[in-house]
Amino acid sequence: MCFRPVTVKKREVKCPKCQENNPMPLSIESALSEIWGNEGGKEILEKHCSAMTGDPRFKSAMNMTLKQVRPMSGGKITQEIYDLVASELNQLPKPGCKSCGETLPAA
Ligand SMILES: [Zn+2]
Repeated sequence: MCFRPVTVKKREVKCPKCQENNPMPLSIESALSEIWGNEGGKEILEKHCSAMTGDPRFKSAMNMTLKQVRPMSGGKITQEIYDLVASELNQLPKPGCKSCGETLPAA
């Protein structure tokens, strides 16, 4: 167990079978870096938030959630876009436990 700087809150979910810690499935509460690091998540961001992902400041916002970035988007990320990204992230296939493959509980 190690202590991380408070800005990056690594959220994990424990496998009910083998107790292994797994990264949380992606959601609208995930940091942009987590979403961006996932092929399906990246596609969703590029599809709906190209104004943000194409912005040079995007890299420095990686540790933030879309909710935190939204007020700084100058109105480019509308409520509709936000809701769409949230629902499409929820539809992404949920990964099983990286150790035993067990289905992980939803957060
Ligand atoms: Zn497991």
